[in-house]
Amino acid sequence: MKIPFNKPYMTGKELEYIKESVASGKISGDGIFTSKCHKFFETRYGYSKTLLTTSCTDALEMAAILCEIKPGDEVIAPSYTFVSTVNAFVLRGAKVIFADSEELTPNLDISTIEELITSRTKAIIPVHYAGIACDMDKISDLAVRHGLFVVEDAAQAIDSCYKGKPLGSLGNLAAFSFHETKNIISGEGGMLVVNDAHFAARAEIIREKGTNRSAFFRGEVDKYGWVDIGSSFLPSDIVAAFLYAQLEHIDQIQSKRRWLWTRYFEELQPLADKGRLYLPVIPEYATNNAHMFYIICNNLEERTGLIAYLKSKRILSVFHYLSLHKSPYYNDKHDGRKLENADRYSDCLVRLPLYFDLSDADVCFIVKSIFEYYQ
Ligand SMILES: *Cc1c(COP(=O)(O)O)cnc(C)c1O
Repeated sequence: MKIPFNKPYMTGKELEYIKESVASGKISGDGIFTSKCHKFFETRYGYSKTLLTTSCTDALEMAAILCEIKPGDEVIAPSYTFVSTVNAFVLRGAKVIFADSEELTPNLDISTIEELITSRTKAIIPVHYAGIACDMDKISDLAVRHGLFVVEDAAQAIDSCYKGKPLGSLGNLAAFSFHETKNIISGEGGMLVVNDAHFAARAEIIREKGTNRSAFFRGEVDKYGWVDIGSSFLPSDIVAAFLYAQLEHIDQIQSKRRWLWTRYFEELQPLADKGRLYLPVIPEYATNNAHMFYIICNNLEERTGLIAYLKSKRILSVFHYLSLHKSPYYNDKHDGRKLENADRYSDCLVRLPLYFDLSDADVCFIVKSIFEYYQ
């Protein structure tokens, strides 16, 4: 393939920091680089507590445990999302009530949520799709009025804001991903942000197999033992070392990605003006962290043709997320409501290559090929 869909970017210091971590003599979790990463996030974004995890999926599983989700509880989440958003809650026995996406963005349509809330509803899980904020004031207002937790699936949302506030700081809890397809990477990796102080102590325990080992290492207790349920959610310090090398270059990575994103947007605007395709919409309350550049075709056949045409030009574009309410696992558990916008994104959205090493010439070639397809 001439232009791949994604190419992990290395800043150059990854192996040096891994070497340093190994030389420190402690490569298990919570070593020197883990604490450097925690400090970075807490300083740059003002998060009160961050905990690196082995994935965003794990951070979401921790969130579900912290919210004390049990069989019979309900959670509300968009249908157009990755399975991990809801799987974490289903593992605790929750029923997922799927909400539709907005017409203008794949984010969940908040105007449809209130009627889905019942006495069993425990949490709302907004997903900031493509790093574009959901309307969090409206979600928080609903959550406060109905006594619900808000867990942000901020997997794609690093370095993005809602009304000037960093995403990940707005729910009771938030989960980020450093999977190699995200803006900042560590191969596999994630982070739980704990905004609600009353979760802080328990979050550490759940992450350390249900033990109070973190408090023990800080000298707060003189022995550690089994005090709660938990699992092994913390990454090796080798992973944190890799991540830290990425974080040091976050501004450079973000500005290149935003530049590429804007190039696509400007070059494709004439096709959007003619109504041939649709471009992403950024609401005025949201910033764009350039996690993803997508276009929306008019129908499934047109998209299938576009992906095939680009492939013939050796450009790899992809679609994703088959609506979860129609998935083989959930289809017969869903209450039958039609979620038309979710289905439309499932059928019509295409993601174009977007990675640090993509060149201006690559973007021009991809855009030219898209114009040819629509000729
Ligand atoms: C990538 C992603 C996840 C999963 O992240 P992992 O780190 O791979 O577990 C969850 N939710 C969304 C919306 C994602 O994009």
